[in-house]
Amino acid sequence: MAVTSLALRRQRLTFAIGAVRQNLARGPVALPQPLAYDARMASPAATPDRALDTLCSELREIVGPSWALTGADDLRTYECDGLTGWRQPPLAVALPASTEEVARVVRLCHRLHVPFVPRGSGTGLSGGALPSADGIVIGLSRMRSILQIDLENERVVVQPGVLNLEVTRAVQAEGYFYAPDPSSQRVCTIGGNVAENSGGAHCLKYGFTTNHVLAATLVLSDGRIAHLGSACLDAPGLDLLGVLIGSEGTLGIVTEVTLRLLPQPEWVETLLAAFPSTDTAGEAVAAIVAHGVVPAAMEMMDRATIQAVESTMHAGYPDCGAALLVELDGPAADCRSLFQAVEELCRAAGATEVRVARDEAERALLWKGRRGAFSAMGRVSPDYYVQDGVVPRSRLAGVLAGIRELEQRHQLRVANVFHAGDGNLHPLILYDRKEAGGAERARELAEDILGLCLEAGGSLTGEHGVGRDKMCQMPRLFSVADQEVMDRVRSAFDPHRLANPGKVLPTPRLCGEHPGIYRPHPAELAGLAERM
Ligand SMILES: Cc1cc2nc3c(=O)[nH]c(=O)nc-3n(C[C@H](O)[C@H](O)[C@H](O)COP(=O)(O)OP(=O)(O)OC[C@H]3O[C@@H](n4cnc5c(N)ncnc54)[C@H](O)[C@@H]3O)c2cc1C
Repeated sequence: MAVTSLALRRQRLTFAIGAVRQNLARGPVALPQPLAYDARMASPAATPDRALDTLCSELREIVGPSWALTGADDLRTYECDGLTGWRQPPLAVALPASTEEVARVVRLCHRLHVPFVPRGSGTGLSGGALPSADGIVIGLSRMRSILQIDLENERVVVQPGVLNLEVTRAVQAEGYFYAPDPSSQRVCTIGGNVAENSGGAHCLKYGFTTNHVLAATLVLSDGRIAHLGSACLDAPGLDLLGVLIGSEGTLGIVTEVTLRLLPQPEWVETLLAAFPSTDTAGEAVAAIVAHGVVPAAMEMMDRATIQAVESTMHAGYPDCGAALLVELDGPAADCRSLFQAVEELCRAAGATEVRVARDEAERALLWKGRRGAFSAMGRVSPDYYVQDGVVPRSRLAGVLAGIRELEQRHQLRVANVFHAGDGNLHPLILYDRKEAGGAERARELAEDILGLCLEAGGSLTGEHGVGRDKMCQMPRLFSVADQEVMDRVRSAFDPHRLANPGKVLPTPRLCGEHPGIYRPHPAELAGLAERM
């Protein structure tokens, strides 16, 4: 009996692993197979020198010798993004200067069947720009021109390497701004924002990147150039632009973007309220929303974050259990009375102190503390891992309580700083990788926090993307059938899987495993499954 059930389980697991592989390998049935894929190209060690020489010399020809990097030191610069735990130097880095150069580099990759990873500034926190060992990185940092400013129609056309904040800087004198404002906005690129559908503190009121992109030029993985969206507000046909935004570089390379601009609000006012705990601050959030107020931003920081920020940024935050940063903007007549109501609601929820920024300098200081919260952690802990999950706003208090329990269980500290209005949590898990098992414990805690978010009806990521980091978590949220649909959409853009392979959608081969020497899955060791 035991033998039969073991054999059955083994058969089922073998079938399951095989079936998933087949599904993923099958992709869209009618699409062509890779033209001349040479398995020897799949590992850098096995890459024939001649093929690598061809690749590098043609890259030099296309982008110019100074912009095709192949030296070990140069490649190390590109071996990771903001998620530094994953590192892999690429075969080469190409830094093209125009859509045409990007297309030529991609056509070369297509001909030689070399995968490519698009990269903006490398501030991503999910390993999206992590190179693949058998591929190249295509960096967009030289494509930094603002091509057209059309204030009459409230839009701007930019190259992908333009930094987020540069867009607002280019139009603010004329009374306009670009709304999505990731905390990394001084350094991250519009191309990266489009690929990640980035958010930011002011996305509570204004929406994420996807609400501000009208059109994009995309170099497909065979080098063809596609134009998605339209300069008009409602483009006919399927919303392929919507599919592109948030696709994390897996559909091709964005080389031009048309963005919406907004007129600067007439009035902006900001306050910082101090509370005894995140629970009481959470009550204020609920009360503000229930009152019908939609703040431009509503950000929360717990005591651990406040202490780290104060020790590094000196933003003047009070010593308290939680701080709530609330900003209102809009027509002065509407906002003044609402701002007064917000102050009263904060006090009614238990705020011990409410500080209203008296001028632009004070406002900037309050924001400096919030925007610098991640980097402040580097001063108080040797290492930290930024988790990014999202839950319905009404479940925040329960999930924060769950995180406190997990801190005890895993014996690690967690600092919380988050977009409270969106329910988008950023628990910062503090650890020391030099301590035996420190990194593993941090990873386990991070995964448990995601579990809490999912149980609360939330999602795997609020704004940082799936990348390499959360690829193996996708089956926790999506069924095999769901993933297969996404994979087919991806294959329609990139049938040869050359654009940022090994990201977002898991394969059975990689999931639950770490890169490097192959280690059998425990189910295989137990004789319950085998690889096909
Ligand atoms: C301190 C700090 C604070 C942050 N705060 C926020 C925040 O508030 N909100 C938020 O959403 N994120 C935040 N992030 C994450 C990160 O800054 C964003 O994801 C940002 O959009 C990444 O832009 P990048 O230019 O650095 O892209 P990269 O990290 O270089 O790339 C990110 C992804 O985009 C792809 N990509 C890049 N350029 C292109 C292109 N032209 N075409 C196609 N694919 C491309 C890459 O392949 C990769 O998958 C923060 C990061 C840090 C370090």
